Amino acid sequence: MDRSQLGFHRIARTHPERCALVVNDATVSFRALADRVDRVGRGLRALGLAEGDVVAALVGNGRVYFELALAAARYGLYLVPVNTHSSPAEVEYVCQDSGAAVLVAEAQLGQRLADGAVRLPTHRFAVGGDLPGWRPYADAADASTPGPPPRPVAGALMPYTSGTTGRPKGVRRPLSGRDPDDVAAELAAARAELFGLDPGEGVHLACSPLYHNAPGVYAQIALHLGHTVVCHRKFDPVAVLRDIDHHRVTWTHMVPTHFRRLLDLPDAARTGADASSLRTVLHAGAPCPADVKAAMVAWLGPVVWEYYGATEGMVSILPPEEWAVRPGTVGRPAPGVTVRVLDDDGADVPAGEVGTIWFSVLTPFEYLGDTEKTARGRCDGLVTVGDLGAFDEDGYLVLHDRRTDLVISGGVNIYPAEVEACLVGHNRVRDAAVVGVPDPQWGQRVVAVIERAPAPAAGPASGDEALAAELRELCTRELASYKVPREFLFLDVLPRTEVGKLDRNGLRDRYRPEAAVGRA
Ligand code: ATP
Repeated sequence: MDRSQLGFHRIARTHPERCALVVNDATVSFRALADRVDRVGRGLRALGLAEGDVVAALVGNGRVYFELALAAARYGLYLVPVNTHSSPAEVEYVCQDSGAAVLVAEAQLGQRLADGAVRLPTHRFAVGGDLPGWRPYADAADASTPGPPPRPVAGALMPYTSGTTGRPKGVRRPLSGRDPDDVAAELAAARAELFGLDPGEGVHLACSPLYHNAPGVYAQIALHLGHTVVCHRKFDPVAVLRDIDHHRVTWTHMVPTHFRRLLDLPDAARTGADASSLRTVLHAGAPCPADVKAAMVAWLGPVVWEYYGATEGMVSILPPEEWAVRPGTVGRPAPGVTVRVLDDDGADVPAGEVGTIWFSVLTPFEYLGDTEKTARGRCDGLVTVGDLGAFDEDGYLVLHDRRTDLVISGGVNIYPAEVEACLVGHNRVRDAAVVGVPDPQWGQRVVAVIERAPAPAAGPASGDEALAAELRELCTRELASYKVPREFLFLDVLPRTEVGKLDRNGLRDRYRPEAAVGRA
């Protein structure tokens, strides 16, 4: 299939019976999905929505997500996917901040919103159940006038960032006024070329939450390439293996936490499933420990692609064959993207030195309603999301920390990633997070939060006090004294979001001095 044949609506015309979605073993053809998209798009516009108006969606992975995303894209609207784990106050924030005119929510997720305590858009539609004062989702679709729009106008997703460093920020890109299928086909073709995807032939597994930008965008790219999307409501490693085998999945998008959950399955479960159809496994969003990636590559072969990017744009790419020789890096700048590592005065820092990462974006964006933040993250046509990193001698980018995660103790910068890398070198540490907590003398002091590895079969399991002493000794041996954690806290599992991002704010908040052991 060449580029001129790509785009969901074009494929719905040329290959109407092709399977677009598999959800809970029910299938939806391109024609059936395209028909729903047009009805929903027309229905939304019939509410009085104009080009550029906003629809918010509080829906899990499933058919409705695709209907709304594709309808927004074809009818000149913005779709704001809302994290399905949001509290009522968080849903209210996103709806208010984005100025959403419509909220579509699964009844089960919308229940806590229906008591009138939070401000919601005027038009509210409930999917799969009734909510008092809401209309059924069926009402959002135009039942009387099937057929395409008179003039399709490219709408877009308006994603919110994950909120790792503060409140989620709405990332708005201008609407292009071009034919939506052309816009989508262009992006899909570029990504297909980049990641070796076969336009026309393929099966994508959507097992990460689609309300996150990247999983949602890649699942839509799959449809624009004419691929079938097998859609899982949540990540279940057993179901993932089963469906990779059963549907001959060719590509997917995961996060390192998913890798870990697959690798934690008994060997028999992994060897019992045929995963040989997989050609591309993309991952991003959080650092992937080298041992986890090595185990994935040993199992699946050279199909694991890493990229580094943010809701704001893609920055760099590390293809499978380069990972083996460049572990610990996030690759080289993506095609067409300029990446620079700058000091605080805006000068390029030499290879090997840490600075702030700045990159060019293909489409300019603004942080919704925050001109100051938009301006602060922008300089000479480049943007930053506040990640720190360094280029190595060969132009591979090594990611350090978020600027906001830096620990500044006694006026000296301490990079959590460096201390964490040292801690995970101990065989009783499965994962480690280093955070700065307020300290009356030093401003901040370094605290290490440790997720224990299972005790080795042979040998005694050391208690928390003994392990803390061993870790302190290890750090003292390998790091400058000011970087050695003052306290160690042990947890069964480090708190991570659903897409594997470490919840450092949560750790700082939950940090209680009385819970710490091994105080220096
Ligand atoms: P917020 O901007 O609201 O604080 P967020 O930055 O987590 O949240 P996202 O846009 O979802 O929102 O995530 C982008 C961030 O994820 C990047 O800035 C980077 O810190 C991290 N990241 C992305 N890819 C990788 C990767 N390959 N390895 C390590 N970290 C990554």
